[in-house]
Amino acid sequence: MPQSDNIVFNVLSIMRGTTVDGPGFRTSIYLAGCNHRCPGCHNPSSWNKTGGTPTTLSKILDIVEEEDFNVTLSGGDPLCNPKSTKFLIDALKRNGRNVWVYTGYTWEEIIATPLLTDTIRNADVVVEGPFIMAQKDPDLLFRGSANQRIIDIQESLASSKIILWQ
Ligand code: SF4
Repeated sequence: MPQSDNIVFNVLSIMRGTTVDGPGFRTSIYLAGCNHRCPGCHNPSSWNKTGGTPTTLSKILDIVEEEDFNVTLSGGDPLCNPKSTKFLIDALKRNGRNVWVYTGYTWEEIIATPLLTDTIRNADVVVEGPFIMAQKDPDLLFRGSANQRIIDIQESLASSKIILWQ
């Protein structure tokens, strides 16, 4: 295992000051790699785990500090590289950031998989579930299809039931 500062992420892009991936201005980090293959996916080129630009953890953290916004991790699916994503989430939380995570896994799949649960354990909100074309709705806030839920991670883990973010 490398030193955590030297972990390299395959970054598709970093959006600075976006307002579409969660509340307020945010730094959105799009990580390469997704196994879900949702029909109608907005970005199939994000599926390749080796796509994007290799970027160290410390470089990502520097950009986040420079922008001084809260953070959203998206992709691709950050939970398709759970071990490295956990390092990133934990580092962002140590720096006091509110962290949202987008994933194609459902909440039920996450809590049934210890590695995935451990990965998101310290984050704030997960926008979960695959994109389902038949449930696509452009008017939905912060999500693409109506099956996807915006879940408060800390409240849900503490109460062992799904508590939606409000
Ligand atoms: S989870 Fe997201 S990135 Fe992955 S296939 Fe589905 S829509 Fe595309």
